[in-house]
Amino acid sequence: MQKAAALIEKNGDELAQLITLENGKPLWEAKKEVGTAVSWTEYYAGWTTKLSGDTIPVSLPGQFLNYTVREPLGVVGGITPPNYPLTMPLYKAAPALATGNTVVLKPSEDTSLVALRLAELFREAGFPEGVVNVVTGYGETAGAALANHNDVDKITFTGSTEVGRMLVKASAGNLKKLSLELGGKSPNIVFADADLEAALKGVFMGIFFCQGEICSAGSRLFVEQTIYDEFVAQLAGMAKSVRLGHGLDPETKMGPLVSRSQQERVLGYIEQGKAAKANVLAGGRKPDGLLAEGFFVEPTVFSQVTNEMTIAREEIFGPVVCALPFKDLADAIRQGNDSPFGLAAGVWTRDLHKAHQAAAALETGTVWVNCYNAFDNASPWGGFKQSGWGREKGPYGLDLFTQIKSVVVNFT
Ligand code: NAD
Repeated sequence: MQKAAALIEKNGDELAQLITLENGKPLWEAKKEVGTAVSWTEYYAGWTTKLSGDTIPVSLPGQFLNYTVREPLGVVGGITPPNYPLTMPLYKAAPALATGNTVVLKPSEDTSLVALRLAELFREAGFPEGVVNVVTGYGETAGAALANHNDVDKITFTGSTEVGRMLVKASAGNLKKLSLELGGKSPNIVFADADLEAALKGVFMGIFFCQGEICSAGSRLFVEQTIYDEFVAQLAGMAKSVRLGHGLDPETKMGPLVSRSQQERVLGYIEQGKAAKANVLAGGRKPDGLLAEGFFVEPTVFSQVTNEMTIAREEIFGPVVCALPFKDLADAIRQGNDSPFGLAAGVWTRDLHKAHQAAAALETGTVWVNCYNAFDNASPWGGFKQSGWGREKGPYGLDLFTQIKSVVVNFT
């Protein structure tokens, strides 16, 4: 695994280019993704020498010894979306391999080449044939075949909540284990007492990084009503200044969406927002001119949104933020939690009490305080409510790919 990490690093420029060409994201973002891929693979390489069980203090100590071992599950199927073409397959493969499983990856149909190149690098690193496999194809054919297969012991999935539900049904045949990293509609909450300069940057990156095609996107922005107009106007100003362009152009700050269908989906939501009388402060359309033929959507800021509108309830998965005012902490929590999703949340305040009260009350798998999208290999990741099952990353991630065997020895 250490050799695989080194090969990913060595071939980083080529992988970054491939990511940009397939996904559209700017090269500088693709390079960051390669860096994450290297450190992630190294992180789980480290776990291979640290997988231990427990000795259990059973009630008849002089007579029975009880110990546990972690064993692999067997064949792990990994089904992934296109927003992180390199790290998504690796989020599945690295912990699965580190714990002794084999993997069959089914990458997004929009970004298969990166996954195929990754499998080549694992081969080059010395993984035996058959240990790292890639099956390309569409979800309803290749993905469904993997999910229904009786020789697959586990599916680890990242994608939409809708497909997650299908996988629950598909796994029933052999009761394969299932972990799900699903969609989100994350609240990012800005109190008037926050460091507003930092909050503005955090909110901007929280929604517009990766073209907004990120599960944790802070797509519902709640701003305390005393600063709402000013804060949202500033955010709109920043959104208007974003330079869209080809991912390989070094001047580009935001690339196109991953596909024509994703572009149409996002533009469709924007039209629904306009029809519901939300106010477009920035963007709200695809660009004209040279970029008109690409899958671009202008970074979009909606004000005058209510939490009941479709644009505030459904995941858009694009560069669109809905800004809503709130009165006080209780109101922010009530509105923030009023969602079927529970992936992540952000809180911006200088008041320690408010920060901890919000962190305790928000029904999300992660709460970021005075930061956003602050990920780490060691920090658990996963959703409450309809945002998923299980926790990836860190030691929690080991539980998704192993089963505990309990050995009881009678030595009397
Ligand atoms: P998607 O659910 O449409 O597709 C994801 C993967 O599932 C693709 O490989 C697709 O081919 C496959 N698939 C589709 N139908 C299938 C079926 N019937 N059986 C088996 N596999 C099937 O999602 P998408 O549009 O590619 O990606 C965006 C979604 O991913 C968003 O909802 C986003 O929030 C989610 N996501 C979640 C996380 C997280 O960590 N929670 C991270 C990134 C993306």
